[in-house]
Amino acid sequence: MKNKENAIVVGAGLVGSLWSILLAKRGYKVDLYEQRSDVRKKGFIGGRSINLAMSHRGWKALEKAGVDQKIRELSIPMHGRMMHSTTGELTFQPYGKQNEAIYSVSRGGLNLELLNIADSFENVTINFDEKCLGIDTKTKTVGFSNYATKEKTSQDADLIFGTDGAFSAVRDSIQRRPRFNYSQDYLEHGYKELSIPPLPNGDFALDKNALHIWPRGHFMLIALPNIDGSFTCTLFLPFEGEVSFEKLTDNETVLAFFEKYFADTIPLIPNLLEEFSENPTSGLVTVKCSPWSYANKVMLMGDASHAIVPFYGQGMNSGFEDCTVLDELIDINEGDWLETFKEFNDARITDANAISELAKRNFVEMRDSVGNDLFLLRKKIEKHLNKKYPKQFLPVYSMVSFSHIRYSEALAELDRQDKLFERILKIDDIKNNWADNPQVDVVFLEWHESFLINN
Ligand SMILES: Cc1cc2nc3c(=O)[nH]c(=O)nc-3n(C[C@H](O)[C@H](O)[C@H](O)COP(=O)(O)OP(=O)(O)OC[C@H]3O[C@@H](n4cnc5c(N)ncnc54)[C@H](O)[C@@H]3O)c2cc1C
Repeated sequence: MKNKENAIVVGAGLVGSLWSILLAKRGYKVDLYEQRSDVRKKGFIGGRSINLAMSHRGWKALEKAGVDQKIRELSIPMHGRMMHSTTGELTFQPYGKQNEAIYSVSRGGLNLELLNIADSFENVTINFDEKCLGIDTKTKTVGFSNYATKEKTSQDADLIFGTDGAFSAVRDSIQRRPRFNYSQDYLEHGYKELSIPPLPNGDFALDKNALHIWPRGHFMLIALPNIDGSFTCTLFLPFEGEVSFEKLTDNETVLAFFEKYFADTIPLIPNLLEEFSENPTSGLVTVKCSPWSYANKVMLMGDASHAIVPFYGQGMNSGFEDCTVLDELIDINEGDWLETFKEFNDARITDANAISELAKRNFVEMRDSVGNDLFLLRKKIEKHLNKKYPKQFLPVYSMVSFSHIRYSEALAELDRQDKLFERILKIDDIKNNWADNPQVDVVFLEWHESFLINN
């Protein structure tokens, strides 16, 4: 599988555009196909979230592509969570150390920038309005249908990358092959976006350097800042049940729901009722599959191989990390794609499954635990232990968002840290004396030692 020269990338979303840039930098002739029209001519058509939280893994991949500086200029740092109680009290909880933040970036702006850079390479051709129909498993070619001309074509290349999102046509065609594992499940919750415009003087209506959360047990509202001074809010709520989207059928029920649970947001969302009835309610899907490669020629990346729920803000970040890891493996294997595909499958599927699990668990944390005293106490003690024992203890949130430690290691560490905190939180009067309590150190050091012995 050496000496590959040309590649087809299906889907010019976030991952496909970035991967095309990295391939182009290596000298590959890249044909990037996208079902939508050129967003640069027609304006960006939304769909999924308007903004996204970018963290270390995403930045590293953007750095490789040489676009990180430009995107940083268009991003807003969020240093922690700002929790809003039902009575309007605010509690701020930093995500990491003082200089650590996750960044709110515009999905459309980021995609546009990546497309422009991909397009600036002579060896990249972007083909818009081309809907992928799937892989012909006999000829190992890709079928496309052009929206304008209705013409159907079949394209071939040395390598084919499926970056066509959670409902991937590339994956769909290889899914029918023997021994291909696939699962898809929907969360009982859906989501709806709403917006908080800037104040009349142009200022942000809330603290712009925080990710705002209104945790309400089984559901929640969040808000991320945009550079134009607005916030995009997302309501995560079950589709069915006592408190659910199905019960919010008219202006009265929507208003009563907001008055009861999110009263402080009503003056901030002037078009609440219009937006609630006009904006779609969308589902949240988790997709897992293996292997991600087919016939030593096709590779799935990003949501096409691992769509996850958005509660750790890692869907795009993990897709971008796919690009970093695959790019590094090409170097390590000196262009041997057979070995590269094998190693990529082996490493990344385990990590994708791990972040999928972490994202599901983080939903419980965000909607429920962040408002809970014991949880807040744990966060304070985590910070204290990290400061006192920086080499031995790193909070799992930091591992995921501010490091490149494998997701599978972060998941294993979460289980381990849960056991540590089961013990620490049982220490007498821990709420009032955690900071200088020698018992905390005893329990911590025992826990750490048992890890060293077992490893
Ligand atoms: C509400 C919400 C909030 C989120 N927030 C975050 C966050 O804060 N941080 C984060 O890291 N992630 C977040 N995510 C996840 C993130 O959006 C995805 O992981 C990311 O968009 C995946 O990128 P992708 O390029 O793999 O797929 P996509 O972005 O879905 O792009 C796929 C592309 O392929 C094209 N395509 C699809 N089918 C075909 C076809 N048949 N032929 C040709 N082209 C096709 C599509 O038009 C699209 O351009 C969030 C997701 C949701 C739903």
